[in-house]
Amino acid sequence: MIDKPIPYGRQHITDEDIDEVISTLKSDYLTQGPKIKEFEDAFASYVEARYAVAVNNATSGLHLAAMAFGVKPGDKVIVTPMTFAASANCIRYCGGEVVFCDIDKDTYLMDIEKLKNMLASAPKGTYKGIVPVDFAGYPVDIEAFRKVADEYDLWILEDACHAPGGYFIDSKGTKQYCGNGLADVGVFSFHPVKHIATGEGGMVTTNRKDIYDALCLYRTHGITKDPARLEENHGGWYYEMQDLGFNYRITDFQAALGISQLKRAQAGLNRRQQIADAYNKAFAEVSGICTPYVADNVYHAYHLYIIQVADRLGLYNYLRENKIYAQVHYVPLHLMPYYRQFGNKRGDLPVVEEYYRHCLSLPMYPTLTDEEQQYVIDKVIEFVTRK
Ligand SMILES: *Cc1c(COP(=O)(O)O)cnc(C)c1O
Repeated sequence: MIDKPIPYGRQHITDEDIDEVISTLKSDYLTQGPKIKEFEDAFASYVEARYAVAVNNATSGLHLAAMAFGVKPGDKVIVTPMTFAASANCIRYCGGEVVFCDIDKDTYLMDIEKLKNMLASAPKGTYKGIVPVDFAGYPVDIEAFRKVADEYDLWILEDACHAPGGYFIDSKGTKQYCGNGLADVGVFSFHPVKHIATGEGGMVTTNRKDIYDALCLYRTHGITKDPARLEENHGGWYYEMQDLGFNYRITDFQAALGISQLKRAQAGLNRRQQIADAYNKAFAEVSGICTPYVADNVYHAYHLYIIQVADRLGLYNYLRENKIYAQVHYVPLHLMPYYRQFGNKRGDLPVVEEYYRHCLSLPMYPTLTDEEQQYVIDKVIEFVTRK
């Protein structure tokens, strides 16, 4: 038996992280200070995007992106159903209509063939954009989606909350990091279960100057002080509220924590890779456990390590009895009561519904020890091979 419970994910805070936060608390700026830009620049360079805008959480970031795309009532947007609710909710905040596209049975990402069918069977102009998600840390092939999006004049909002540092190799052999701007916008979360923790926090990335300007404007009430953008100018104090925005800012002490965490991001990814390899190896010879598929051209960020088993409820309960808190990611969005009211129902998306019956996310975080992981492996195998 182990002495403390094992969650499916958790943050890693070091003494250096704490020192950075304290020194920012002692500085002149708790918010709207220099740490914000420093964090944005460091993050943009980490994912190789041109611009980054730090926000108070990823949900706000998704909302800002939808606003920057000009989503309005009646606009139809295609979203993957295998994600956290926020990926779709941002479209609803702007009054848009969410249409779900089923997932690929191997990668669990939005199925590009099904997407093409949806687009081809509707009059051109029916849809405005798509929201693919780098689910579990598996990078979406944005190069392939870009081709389809360009053909139908769609924007791409990549929800990259699971995949900072993940990448795929494109057809020219180039590394394409998740959220690097190949999609119009990428969004990241710094919630403690994600790779980089700031308590609450998020980042929006883009290569488009027009989108970047809109994100900055809407993050702070729709207010600008930029002399180049003002309609009038009454002097140094003067600012204009040019559109209706929000207060979605992050604080400087959170940004300081983010900067410090970002320095260890690659080490965290390496450890996640090791943990995934150990799970894969342990389960390879066990029948009844389906381990994650990873294509050769993909560097998986392993926010989650998901297996599929026949008796998922049984395994979930058995692990809990043994203080292992595995999780299910996620209940398909189209089956949520809120989204059912728009006519979505069971049977609409057979692949994601079948996946949901069997999936279970095992503990996956950099500070999971080898002993703890072995304990998890033993308990999983014990249950699956029981007579
Ligand atoms: C965590 C998460 C979000 C929301 O992030 P917050 O920072 O909690 O708002 C959105 N999308 C996905 C895929 C997530 O995993």
